[in-house]
Amino acid sequence: MSTVGEKLDKVRARMAAAARRAGREPDCVQLVAVSKGVGPEQIREAVAAGQELFGENYLQEALGKIEQFGPEIVWHFIGHLQGNKAKDAARHFACVETVDRAKLALALEKQAAGCGRVLSVLLQVNIGHEVQKSGVLPEEAVGLLASLSACPHLRVRGLMAMPPDLPDPEAVRPYFRQLRLLADDLVARGLLGNQGPVELSMGMSGDFEVAIEEGATLVRVGTALFGKRI
Ligand SMILES: *Cc1c(COP(=O)(O)O)cnc(C)c1O
Repeated sequence: MSTVGEKLDKVRARMAAAARRAGREPDCVQLVAVSKGVGPEQIREAVAAGQELFGENYLQEALGKIEQFGPEIVWHFIGHLQGNKAKDAARHFACVETVDRAKLALALEKQAAGCGRVLSVLLQVNIGHEVQKSGVLPEEAVGLLASLSACPHLRVRGLMAMPPDLPDPEAVRPYFRQLRLLADDLVARGLLGNQGPVELSMGMSGDFEVAIEEGATLVRVGTALFGKRI
């Protein structure tokens, strides 16, 4: 059994190789270590191996860890967020990757303003038009960005997606590409990327290399680092 540190090294090496294959600099891609269901020992091991950025799906679980670890870790919220949880999300996370509706954006705006900070957010896009999934539909992203332009305490840094869950990573490639093309289109229209480089959060344990080849700047990896969740 390899340690978390060894798994981190392996994932980082695979990320760098995928970036080079695509003619990209390896340091354009950041690893979000997805630590849902993962205990403090394993998180500590990852931190000791140099990992600073973590992603959590469940607010209550995350708040306990955030309190325990303090500022040595940067946290992204990557789960479905209810509007009534906007206060904790706006206070405790560096970035909320799952903004998918105007009402949630307004709730986060209010809470970010209330604690005097500017919160980074990504638009979660339902790139596969899947009925059971969260995310704004690609064709509705423009409208959501219009709502976000009225939120001075939110900084839209880019797009996030969870494409259809297919066993063959090559089958997911077209969805990653569609997310990148959507981002390119929004940039060309002046709706995205006015506040710095555009982030694309896409790719998980089974397909992060393909996602990097298609332009991911953030990959969210859990199982490959911490093992299977029970
Ligand atoms: C759980 C989760 C991941 C990580 O998935 P793995 O397959 O374990 O790497 C990434 N993104 C989101 C939104 C998740 O919920």
